[in-house]
Amino acid sequence: MGGLIVLKAFKYRLEPTTQQAELFAKTFGCVRKVYNLMLHDRIESYQKNQETGEKIKFPTPAQYKNEFPFLKEVDSLALANAQLHLNTAYRHFFQQPASGFPKWKSRKNPVQSYTTNNQKGTIAIQAGRYLKLPKMKPVRIKLHRQPEGVIKSATISRTVSGKYFVSLLCETDIPPKPQTGSVIGIDLGLAHFAVFSDGTKVPNPRVLAQTAATLAKAQRKLSRRTQQAKKDGHLLSESRNYQKQRILVAKLHEKVANQRNDFLNKLSTDLVNNHDVISVESLNVKGLVRNRRLARSLHDASWSSFLSKLTYKAAWYGKQVVQVDRWFPSSQLCSACGHPGGKKALHIREWSCPSCGVHHDRDVNASLNIRTEGLRLLQGTGVR
Ligand SMILES: [Zn+2]
Repeated sequence: MGGLIVLKAFKYRLEPTTQQAELFAKTFGCVRKVYNLMLHDRIESYQKNQETGEKIKFPTPAQYKNEFPFLKEVDSLALANAQLHLNTAYRHFFQQPASGFPKWKSRKNPVQSYTTNNQKGTIAIQAGRYLKLPKMKPVRIKLHRQPEGVIKSATISRTVSGKYFVSLLCETDIPPKPQTGSVIGIDLGLAHFAVFSDGTKVPNPRVLAQTAATLAKAQRKLSRRTQQAKKDGHLLSESRNYQKQRILVAKLHEKVANQRNDFLNKLSTDLVNNHDVISVESLNVKGLVRNRRLARSLHDASWSSFLSKLTYKAAWYGKQVVQVDRWFPSSQLCSACGHPGGKKALHIREWSCPSCGVHHDRDVNASLNIRTEGLRLLQGTGVR
C-alpha cells in the first residue's frame, strides 16, 4: 500500500473467569519475582565487582526456574520480558541518572501487568470474542474494533479498580492521509484548552472538569481519613474507611485519565485529518513537574500528552508538527503587520494594533503568530 509500517497499540477490556484471573495473578506474581530476583542479583554482583573486580554476571530467568519451580507454571515469555524490562530500566538509569534507580516491584501495588509475545499464532482473536493467550484457555474480550495488522505482543494489565485490559501491539501498514494544503497554528491556554489560528476555540472538556472536581474532593476526604486513622492509632492497611476511600480515589484517577485520553485522541486525529502542517508552542517539561496545583497540573499533563499524540499521528500519516520555541513572543506581536506591541497583562483579552489598527482577540492573534513562525521555521529547514 506504500504506507508506513508502524507499531500500533489496540486496547481492549478482558473478562477473565475466576480461574483465569487467578492465573493472571499468578503470572503477575512470577514476573514480579523474576524481576526482583534479577534486580537483587545485579546489585549484589555490582557490589562484588566493586570489591573484588570479579566480572558482573547477568542472570537469566531460566536460571531461577530450578530454584523456584513454580516459575515453570507460567508463560515463559512473560518472564523473559521481565528481564527485558529490567534491562531497559537499567539503561534509562545510566543514560539519565535523574530518572532514578530501577525500583522493586511490589505485591501491594494494585496495578500489575505482564507482556508476552506472539509466536506463530500463540496470541490471536478467536470467533470475534475470545483472545487466545499462551498457557491458558481463551479469555473473553470486548472487541469494540478489530486490531489492524499482525499482533506482535500482548500486555495484560489489572487496574486499581480490578478491571483487566489487554493492549495488543500490532505491526500495521498505515497509508498516508490525503494532503489538504492547510496550515494551522495552535495556542495553548488555560481558559480554553486550545485556540486555533482559524478562530476555533476548543474548550476544556466539561465532563473532565467535573470528574477532576470530584477527584479533588475525594482526595481531601482521603487525607482526612489518613489523619483520623493515625489519631485512632490504626494501621492504614487495617482501616476500612481509609481503604474504601483509597479505591474510590484510584477509580476517579482512572476515569479522569480515560476521559482525557478520549478527548485528546479525537482532537489530535481531527487536526491530522484536516491540516498538513500543525504549528504549536513547545513545552517546558521541567516546569510541569514542579507545579502542584491540581487543575494546572492536569492541564499541563494534558498538553504534553496531546503533543505526543499529535507528533506520532502526524508521523504516521505524512503530516508535520512544528514546535515553536516557548519564548517566542506569540502574544506580543500583531499578526497582521508584525508590529511588536509589547507585553500585555493577562486580563486584556482583546486589543487593537496601534500601527495597523486591526482589532485582535488575544488568543487567536497568538495562534496566528505561532502559525507564521512555524512556517518560517519550516522554510529554514527547506522542507516546504
Ligand atoms: Zn498591526
